[in-house]
Amino acid sequence: MMQSTQLFLKDGIQLNGTTLEMLSAMPIIVNVYRAFDSDATITSGLDGKHSSNSYHYDGDAQDYRVWDVMDTVEKVATEIRNELCRYLDYGGCFDVVVEYRNDEEGNRIPSHIHVEFDRRRYETKRHTDPGYTGGRL
Ligand SMILES: [Zn+2]
Repeated sequence: MMQSTQLFLKDGIQLNGTTLEMLSAMPIIVNVYRAFDSDATITSGLDGKHSSNSYHYDGDAQDYRVWDVMDTVEKVATEIRNELCRYLDYGGCFDVVVEYRNDEEGNRIPSHIHVEFDRRRYETKRHTDPGYTGGRL
């Protein structure tokens, strides 16, 4: 059997309306997870409960599961940041943040990795520097 690399979705999430910038980030994120011997699973796209001004509703943000990378989650996030900058001209306009929550015992544990494309930052950079196409910030 040929080994394939797959992206997984939590049941019921909505990706209809995902922006091209987020689409272009997805294979890069999947490959980072593979490098940590884990599958990548999107747990939220345009769905879910987020703050009212969240980029999720614009298709510019996704959440990724961290169950299989609990001990290395900050390294995974750093690697996603680095790889987005390496492969995408506008990679520096992504924010990659590990979100934490409290478990039943009150311990602070990773909840998910939030990845968003900061379109306002991208547009601002383009207006102040017409030659700007993205890249490292
Ligand atoms: Zn999120």
